Amino acid sequence: MTARLIAFTLCLVVGGATGWWVAGDTGAELGLAVGAVAWFALESLRGLRVLRWLRDGDIRNTPSVGGLWGQAADRMRRGLVARERATTEAHRRLEDFLDAIRRSPNGVVLLDAAGRIEWLNETAAGQFGLDTERDLQQHVLNLVRDPDFAAYYHGASFGEDVSLAAPGSSPSRPRRLSVHLHPYGEGRMMLLARDVTAVEQAEAMRRDFVANVSHEIRTPLTVLSGFIETLQSLDLPAEDRRRYLGLMGQQAQRMQTLVNDLLTLSRLEGSPLPGSTDWTPAATLVAQCEQEARALAAASGKSLDLRFVPAPAVQLGGAPHELQSALSNLVSNAVRYTPAGGRIEVLLRLLDGGRLELAVRDTGPGIAPEHIPRLTERFYRVDRSRSRETGGTGLGLAIVKHVVQRHGGELRIDSTPGQGSTFAITMPAVRVRAPQVAASAERPATESQAG
Ligand code: ADP
Repeated sequence: MTARLIAFTLCLVVGGATGWWVAGDTGAELGLAVGAVAWFALESLRGLRVLRWLRDGDIRNTPSVGGLWGQAADRMRRGLVARERATTEAHRRLEDFLDAIRRSPNGVVLLDAAGRIEWLNETAAGQFGLDTERDLQQHVLNLVRDPDFAAYYHGASFGEDVSLAAPGSSPSRPRRLSVHLHPYGEGRMMLLARDVTAVEQAEAMRRDFVANVSHEIRTPLTVLSGFIETLQSLDLPAEDRRRYLGLMGQQAQRMQTLVNDLLTLSRLEGSPLPGSTDWTPAATLVAQCEQEARALAAASGKSLDLRFVPAPAVQLGGAPHELQSALSNLVSNAVRYTPAGGRIEVLLRLLDGGRLELAVRDTGPGIAPEHIPRLTERFYRVDRSRSRETGGTGLGLAIVKHVVQRHGGELRIDSTPGQGSTFAITMPAVRVRAPQVAASAERPATESQAG
């Protein structure tokens, strides 16, 4: 301020002195006025530079203006820089926030108060078949045309989700979305969409499974209760009683087999994956299967040609009881479905890269191609009554598939109706230990007959 006063006084003094020197007292007065006007003009020039800087200049470089205008410009610069920093920070936060929503696994659509799309992420675009640019400002009901969604939107009570078929969903490839509207701000709404196809499929599978299990248990139970009632109400001769008790035993056995298979499945689903530290000789697995197959064939009274090709001297890494159960299931199916006079072969061979194939081949009825992809589903049977007659639960191949997957292997099914089937498990090399590969793989097959 002092500097301003000195500058002003200097202008007056210089103006007055020059005027006095040129024209005496009158000139001094005129000189004073000229000095004051010059000072004012100088100040105005500074003001103009500041205004020009504010209008077009770089806010980080204040014009080199002294005096009050210079101070004002400097304060303005600091204010503007602080505001610019705050704006940049707010913008960055907004971008981070939008980026998080963009990457959300859920679809997000922001609607204005009139229901027009203001913004949507890629997930929502994929779920509803929309375009993140083209479909902005379109009314959501013009684009999501499901009647259930329209009813939900107009219902204005958004306490629960609404479940819709996703656009492009088909009976062979169903896709379901769960959609929720959340009102916010002044009449705006946020639409959240989740792909619930897998959840709904799992729920449908659970329902089917419970219904199937109940049905499978109810049938033998009904038979059992019928016999119990008969035995309680009628005084039957000893022979009949024995026969009835035998039939009751069969039904009880059927339920037990079913419960055992269910427990095996649930153990397979709930237990950690088998490690590769437990090694079992393949020959031991095959020998156990051979024993079971011969016993089963003998019990069924069928004459079958059972051939167990000696296994190469390899060991399999994994859970021995699971591997045994998988192989036994395949062999037991072959014995059960192959009619008398048929042939069943169990063959093990080393494949490229150290993998091992365990194949069960039969000359049974074979399976039509349309059934093959579904055979490993729980309770799926090609011929229901045939399966029941032979004591099947419909869970055998589901167990095999689980065991094979848990060991990182593959199950292959080749079958020709009327000619027979081959069920082959391929174990990965990491689960095969072959100390004497070459020698044992070339040993000749031995054949044996069972009946
Ligand atoms: P099940 O207890 O009914 O045998 P699985 O899951 O073991 O159940 O097999 C599913 C279905 O696959 C069987 O019901 C049967 O129709 C068919 N199947 C399985 N193995 C054979 C086979 N070796 N030959 C013909 N059909 C078979």
